[in-house]
Amino acid sequence: MGTTVDTILKRYTYDSARLMDILIDVQDEKTCISDDSVQKIATGLKISMADVEQTLSFYHFFSKTPTGKYTVYLNDSVVAFMMGREKIAHAFEEAVGCKFGELSPDGLIGLFDTSCIGMNDQEPAAIINNRVFTRLTPFRVKELVKDMKSGKDIDDMYSASRGDGNNSHELVHSVVNNNIRKEGPILMDDITQGEIIQRIVKMQPEEILQEIKHSNIRGRGGAGFPTGLKWEFCRRAKGDQKFIFCNADEGEPGTFKDRVILTEMPELLFEGMALAGYAVGATQGILYLRYEYKYLQTYLEHVIKKAEDAGWLGKNVAGKKDFVFNLRIQFGAGAYVCGEESALIESAEGKRGEPRDRPPFPVEKGYLGCPTVVNNVETLCTAVKIMKRGSEWYRSFGTSESTGTKVLSISGDCFHPGVYEIEWGFSVNDILDMVGAFDVQAVQVGGPSGTLVAPDDFDRILGYEDLATGGSLIIFNQSRKLLEDVVMNFMEFFIEESCGSCSTCRILPVVMRDKLVKIMNGLGIVKDIDDLLEWGKILKVSRCGLGQTACNPIVSSINNFGGLYISRIKTMKDYETGFDLNLAVQEACEATNRVPNI
Ligand code: SF4
Repeated sequence: MGTTVDTILKRYTYDSARLMDILIDVQDEKTCISDDSVQKIATGLKISMADVEQTLSFYHFFSKTPTGKYTVYLNDSVVAFMMGREKIAHAFEEAVGCKFGELSPDGLIGLFDTSCIGMNDQEPAAIINNRVFTRLTPFRVKELVKDMKSGKDIDDMYSASRGDGNNSHELVHSVVNNNIRKEGPILMDDITQGEIIQRIVKMQPEEILQEIKHSNIRGRGGAGFPTGLKWEFCRRAKGDQKFIFCNADEGEPGTFKDRVILTEMPELLFEGMALAGYAVGATQGILYLRYEYKYLQTYLEHVIKKAEDAGWLGKNVAGKKDFVFNLRIQFGAGAYVCGEESALIESAEGKRGEPRDRPPFPVEKGYLGCPTVVNNVETLCTAVKIMKRGSEWYRSFGTSESTGTKVLSISGDCFHPGVYEIEWGFSVNDILDMVGAFDVQAVQVGGPSGTLVAPDDFDRILGYEDLATGGSLIIFNQSRKLLEDVVMNFMEFFIEESCGSCSTCRILPVVMRDKLVKIMNGLGIVKDIDDLLEWGKILKVSRCGLGQTACNPIVSSINNFGGLYISRIKTMKDYETGFDLNLAVQEACEATNRVPNI
């Protein structure tokens, strides 16, 4: 708590583009960003207090009021609830003596909800002071709270054994597990660090672009834009300075495979960033890493330093005169929309993570107005493997439209949740068989913005030509209530994460959620379902993918599980306000201990 705001400002050379880093350090140091800190930051960076306020008010992990010496963020994603999140929340509340969203009476411990923290295969899980605690039980919660009350250091609170692989590395020191269940060509550890970068610096950048284009690899984050084309556009763009961003903000609920790649093969990723830098003529790489993975920071910085010392990063990379490629980490602070590439760039510039209007696209005008490539973790790792074994080798995997393999994060009701690398083209049925799923009612492919697939469609295949996915598959068995437990949770997620710029995305998910509640309460009519489908179409005009897909949980469940809606509506009525007087007075009656007299 001794570090002053001025020391933090000095750390970032009073650069206003590093506002995110400054706010993160102040938040971590002081457990809040007070008015006084805001003023000091504004003065130090020579920007207005409003500029500081607008950034800090945007992100989930920033707070103007103290969040406690120990700050607990408990995941509230759908899988967390399936795995017993409610019991864990109750145990925390009872042991700490306050509700979620509050501080303990002595101000020592703060309890807060948070969206998916990338641990769906080991829920219930929480982040406490940037450390991740997985597979929580009420007993473990009691132990943790006891440790907090006795003032224990967070690193001494791990009583369980360490996680697998590099999770047990002394610089990671984590109980997280990788759960790699199936390795393919990308996850396979078959490259010596520096091997590819030494080879490619002897090639012309155009040859590399040709190879990547010929491989037909498309962005693995979900959007599926051809990687080779993206690199080519950036190479052609005018600009003395160009940037390579790695998008490691995997915020799509249910996705965690990038976390595993970052833990086990950061060397491969950094080589991929240097490779992209050489191909497009960029000299600076930035790993935009979600705040939830801050526990990996020390380890990743150590790997970067090792690569610099070995000559794989920095000046004259791999002995190539004048090839400079520097790398640094930029943390986000909890905003799903920052997974969108232009929002990610805004965030890295120290602003609110609001998607930009396009064109211009980031490849022409991105970070600080310079040409910028933004690629997903898996995409950059795959590019290295393509340069090792060739585009023809890569095209031998998958289907004609979807070449290669896909790393999947699989969670929910199955015996073996975890990370699987498979070729594109396998069916949902194949995957359910592979992971030991049972009694399956539905599979959510592609996170909340994806598709809720019904058993009749389990022969559909994963691939850009059918079920495209950034990698998240969540399995629901027959015991799950799809509307109440799944669709509602996803709608709340989109409402929470909308940046609010577009009126469609700001308003329609809320009214759609309310309409869904009306139907779930047995007060819906046929027109309500028609309205939901119509409003889903209107949402498509929103500026970015978040708004455009925010209707998907409802529309996809109407299309594939229509019976769940039909069985609850009043088919004989053509008008119903949905207003229930009993329901409206219920809370007031409970508070005053009265029986409704209606
Ligand atoms: Fe923001 Fe939603 Fe518009 Fe995207 S669609 S820019 S998240 S308001």
